[in-house]
Amino acid sequence: MNTSAKLKGIHRITLPTPFPIGPVNVYLVESESLTLVDVGPKTDEAWESLKNQLRDRGYSPSDIEQVVLTHHHIDHVGLLDYLRENGDIRLIGHPRNRPWIRRDEAFYRKWYRYMEELYRSEGVEETLIEPNIQLYQLLQSFNCRTDLDWEVAEGDEIPGMPGWRVKETKGHAQSHISLYREADGLMIGGDHLIAHVSSNALIEPPYPGEDKRAKPLLQYRESLRSCLEMDLARVLAGHGKEITRAHSLIEERLGQQEKRARALRDILSEGDALTCFELCKRLFPTKYLEQLPLAMSETLGHLDLLEEWGAVKKEENGGIRYYRLGD
Ligand SMILES: [Zn+2]
Repeated sequence: MNTSAKLKGIHRITLPTPFPIGPVNVYLVESESLTLVDVGPKTDEAWESLKNQLRDRGYSPSDIEQVVLTHHHIDHVGLLDYLRENGDIRLIGHPRNRPWIRRDEAFYRKWYRYMEELYRSEGVEETLIEPNIQLYQLLQSFNCRTDLDWEVAEGDEIPGMPGWRVKETKGHAQSHISLYREADGLMIGGDHLIAHVSSNALIEPPYPGEDKRAKPLLQYRESLRSCLEMDLARVLAGHGKEITRAHSLIEERLGQQEKRARALRDILSEGDALTCFELCKRLFPTKYLEQLPLAMSETLGHLDLLEEWGAVKKEENGGIRYYRLGD
């Protein structure tokens, strides 16, 4: 028996996804309300697997009373459509999930346009822009179309789960929360911390009422640092194994980010002003073609970090942004 299964009343359920990240973990929590934390992507394979693993625990999908979302990404939310066809569920999450899981048309149109303009102004080759916007659109077939019933934010106790509170952990997504039980230092952390791979701080468009994008890597570092102040006995992650040495993993991740920022600074110290896309190709010579959104988010995030350090300045020429070393 693995250690997760020994945690009384919390069961890890691992579901297949068609994405490069591999399988996703959702957690069945036997609390006051029978709760699933995240649900998996909308595929028949994930649905069959979820049903089978619930059956192994003596449950069926209609027994689930509520779902808590750690964040809005399709590998974590898509199956909500299937679950809701099978019974009444209270859906709980951060309000920033809303436009994504509702599939708010105006918001999505703005998102596509924002990313297109961002890629263009950061120097991405024109031939790569359209296919990547189309990829965002194609991926929506794995998404749900639903809405929250209950909003939660920093410090709130999670309904139906006495003893569990919300810890906002923005960075990987603007909607990202972790669930924390202070009594034993247990965290259900979504994609905030993953043992085998560093979590991406993804660029998102400004939300309604905002005129600028967030700087997700800076937010992510802030969230990581605030977790260093918490007693974290175990983190149950959205992908991969549970994490028992969370603090040292956090230190490692913060260090890797600083190292990557220094690598960017070294490239810029060669003298030329470069676009984010040119820097992206230097950092990720093959990944930039396969996973442009991730590679660009990483590069732009680390440029945000260099900017925060005062190590880089931006200039614009013909609608394209260039970066060079600061004075
Ligand atoms: Zn995610």
